[in-house]
Amino acid sequence: MLRPQLSIDEWAEEFKRATVGLASMDIQTISYQESAQRMRDLLKTGLLRNTDLNKRPDRFFLAHRLLAQHAPKLGPGFWIRFTVHYNLCAGTVLGLGNEEQIKELDEWQEKGLLGCFSLTEKLAGVNSGLVVNTQAHWDSRTQTFNLTSPSHGAAKNWISQGLVADRTVVVADLMIEGKPHGPHAFVVNLRDNGQVLPDLDNASIAFSNVKLPKSALLNRFADIEGDKYVQKVEGMPVFHMIGQRLFTGRVAVAQAALEFRKSLFDMTKSYADSKKCWSPTGELSLSSIPQLKDIFIENRKSLDTLEAFVGKCEKQLSDCLTSGSLPSLQLVNAIAVAKVKAVEDSIDFCHRLQNDVGSYALMAGTGFEQKDFLTCCKFAEGDSRILMQKMSRDKIKQYEKKPPTPEQIQADEEAKVAASLLERLAADAKATGNKQEAWDKNWKLVYALADVIMNKTMESYMSRS
Ligand SMILES: Cc1cc2nc3c(=O)[nH]c(=O)nc-3n(C[C@H](O)[C@H](O)[C@H](O)COP(=O)(O)OP(=O)(O)OC[C@H]3O[C@@H](n4cnc5c(N)ncnc54)[C@H](O)[C@@H]3O)c2cc1C
Repeated sequence: MLRPQLSIDEWAEEFKRATVGLASMDIQTISYQESAQRMRDLLKTGLLRNTDLNKRPDRFFLAHRLLAQHAPKLGPGFWIRFTVHYNLCAGTVLGLGNEEQIKELDEWQEKGLLGCFSLTEKLAGVNSGLVVNTQAHWDSRTQTFNLTSPSHGAAKNWISQGLVADRTVVVADLMIEGKPHGPHAFVVNLRDNGQVLPDLDNASIAFSNVKLPKSALLNRFADIEGDKYVQKVEGMPVFHMIGQRLFTGRVAVAQAALEFRKSLFDMTKSYADSKKCWSPTGELSLSSIPQLKDIFIENRKSLDTLEAFVGKCEKQLSDCLTSGSLPSLQLVNAIAVAKVKAVEDSIDFCHRLQNDVGSYALMAGTGFEQKDFLTCCKFAEGDSRILMQKMSRDKIKQYEKKPPTPEQIQADEEAKVAASLLERLAADAKATGNKQEAWDKNWKLVYALADVIMNKTMESYMSRS
């Protein structure tokens, strides 16, 4: 069912109606299968198409936001189910697949087939910079791939929806005549008519020479022709293209953290407005106690800033998605900042609220028991710490080539912190003879530099038209 004629507001109302039942799900008793069935039903409504990430990114992001509003009641489970299917699995097929592979997404939708995404391994994954040890060996005799996990550490791990999904996109090192060609993405059938196919062990998934047809390779950017590896589009390594999904994911995660926090604050505020407290001058509502009142005011201010910033990132990324262009380095950096800032700020404010609202925060149904949602946001699509390490590392590399001038150090906080980190790194590397040891020893300054970079990025990004 296509609904191109609906305005975005009308579409949002339809999506809300379709997900009203989800919000009343009893997460204490619901089984994986039942929850997955709700996701299948939602898919089959066709409200959000598997292809909307490119065609209607406004609906793609809005759907993520609307679902995150239920997170204080539902916890992280359903939202993760949703984003893993639409962004990581279908989104990777959209980004890397050929026309026929993309067309199959419509069939998945009509049948309500669920997808998952198998990147992380016990010893590799997003944290390792997408380097993986699962291998897909090209067999020229049968024109198929043998998918295999050569060691315990190469088994796929933490695969959300792996217990129920019908399809998975597996990221594996493509091997041709024993030569590695780096991470490539393959569509693998996990189940046929609900039954697990042979040779597979999940939701930690290990592969033991699973035969894949040639068509399993998502081959828009690279393929095998005459048993030789062919890069089809210059300057677009597959490794780089897999990483593109992380950008949509980071915007969706940033917005989800903000929506979770808004819902939690709204629920708590309506309780605090009606809760009476004792005071020397008579009864007060809990929300007018100064420290709590201040949290509500500060939270609103910070939310407004972050929503505007993340919203601008969404808008610019959506333009790239609909036009099929790659985001600029500036946008990629802004998205990383948006992800870290939105999540870390939400963790901070929700924690402060929890510790100032009294016994209410201990009660079931208040949303505080679902704060794990924010913990999931912290490591999903690029862990906050790893992203911050990268920000500092990139900046230090720039300054190593062209050290900050005394004028810059005086005028600019970023140059000042970078200069002091550079000085400490040089001294410690000289003393220990080990650059990584010096880097680790100065970890506090590394994260302090990332903080300054993030603030500066937000400021300059928002001041640009
Ligand atoms: C609920 C859930 C769902 C997931 N779903 C999927 C999925 O569907 N598909 C998929 O492929 N993956 C998935 N993942 C994996 C996820 O994206 C992370 O890659 C994975 O959680 C990282 O492993 P870990 O949590 O064991 O972190 P560890 O490697 O144990 O690291 C722990 C923490 O240490 C810090 N850290 C680690 N290394 C460094 C470093 N070098 N420098 C600085 N700090 C560091 C980080 O803060 C990190 O969070 C999921 C994970 C969870 C928990």
